Amino acid sequence: MRYKARMDVVLIDIANDPLTKLYGAYRTCYTPKTPREVWDDIAAGSVSREKIAQFVEERLKTGHVSPLEQVVFWFGISGVSRSLSHQFVRHRIGISFEQQSQRYVRFTGKNEERLEYVMPESWREAGRAAEFEKLMEEITRVYREAVAAGIPAEDARFVLPNAAPTNFQIMVNFAELLHIADLRLCTRAQWEIRQMIARMRSELMRKVPELAKYLQPKCGEKRMGYCDEDLKAYEACPLSNSRPHKLQVIEVFKRVRAESGKPMRDLDESDFKAAEEFREAKG
Ligand SMILES: Cc1cc2nc3c(=O)[nH]c(=O)nc-3n(C[C@H](O)[C@H](O)[C@H](O)COP(=O)(O)OP(=O)(O)OC[C@H]3O[C@@H](n4cnc5c(N)ncnc54)[C@H](O)[C@@H]3O)c2cc1C
Repeated sequence: MRYKARMDVVLIDIANDPLTKLYGAYRTCYTPKTPREVWDDIAAGSVSREKIAQFVEERLKTGHVSPLEQVVFWFGISGVSRSLSHQFVRHRIGISFEQQSQRYVRFTGKNEERLEYVMPESWREAGRAAEFEKLMEEITRVYREAVAAGIPAEDARFVLPNAAPTNFQIMVNFAELLHIADLRLCTRAQWEIRQMIARMRSELMRKVPELAKYLQPKCGEKRMGYCDEDLKAYEACPLSNSRPHKLQVIEVFKRVRAESGKPMRDLDESDFKAAEEFREAKG
């Protein structure tokens, strides 16, 4: 009998040909052609797959993000804790959730001696797994007896823990998925939700790698490229070895300007190199 819930994430479906949808949306903004003409060109094969991918890639480097709302993905998620789900459902724009009900589902399966739960590794590492499990057993007993005594599931569930597993089917658009990844792949996010978003990324990677690769923490080179958390959190983060903090970016920028005196639009790589050398020389 398995009591420990196992996280499972599956990409159920994606809006048909998301890359071309994005191409059509962006192209409509930047061409005198009508959408019908844009899509006729696509249907006639006059725009190669490579060109579509390249065009979208270039747009993804810009701040023009509203077309990303036109591409949606469906995921099935199970075996995650109610601790995770409390956090997940705080995302409110561009995402729809359906979550297993604790009102309509009674967790009284005959073959189960006790309810499933999600146990963080830290309990085992601290040598307290047995205590955790004992409490889950006790909760199972109280819950089952309450249901057997006629207490409705919606009331019996009041004793269920944050460790209780739950299931979702969600629909999310690409703009929101990027935003969620910004926040929840960051090392400041809780381990379980980070793990879940990482799995969503892997699922998407198998189908649309051109888009999935943009799912990064906000400091990723395809996202903001720097950390905007407080300095203490930044210094504690392993990613600080490879990614700058916002204050460093501002500082380098100021020095580059001071060094070359050029307006920002004229700065080039040599200016940044000069500023780095200047910084190193100053220690
Ligand atoms: C590391 C971390 C720690 C957290 N700690 C806490 C905590 O201690 N307590 C707590 O309550 N929550 C906490 N949260 C949750 C957080 O405050 C957000 O509720 C959650 O991350 C959802 O993100 P979002 O607000 O960007 O919502 P989304 O729905 O993902 O929003 C998308 C974006 O739309 C815009 N938007 C949405 N609604 C509005 C609006 N009404 N007005 C203007 N713009 C809007 C915003 O730009 C927003 O970023 C934490 C989140 C993280 C990542």
